[in-house]
Amino acid sequence: MRGRLEAAATAGREREHAQQLSGKEAQLSALERETSRCRCGSCGQTYRQPLVSTHCWHVHCAQCWHTALAADGRCPQCSALVASDDLNAIHV
Ligand SMILES: [Zn+2]
Ligand SMILES: [Zn+2]
Repeated sequence: MRGRLEAAATAGREREHAQQLSGKEAQLSALERETSRCRCGSCGQTYRQPLVSTHCWHVHCAQCWHTALAADGRCPQCSALVASDDLNAIHV
């Protein structure tokens, strides 16, 4: 009798745990949807290391800025002249 009660209590806890887990998974997938909207306009990838130009306030990943600045020193989005000093790391 006692053993069955304990088993029922354990099952209840496991159900609760599973519910908490699926809640976390829902939060995670919501977060993924959120970040997947933040894609670099140059390479289409989600930002791993986003940098903002304080000259034109466009955001691209570090790699894309460096490629663009090495090529013609311009923002890939608006062609404003951007110096590497204008680039600042942002934290989202
Ligand atoms: Zn990029
Ligand atoms: Zn720009």
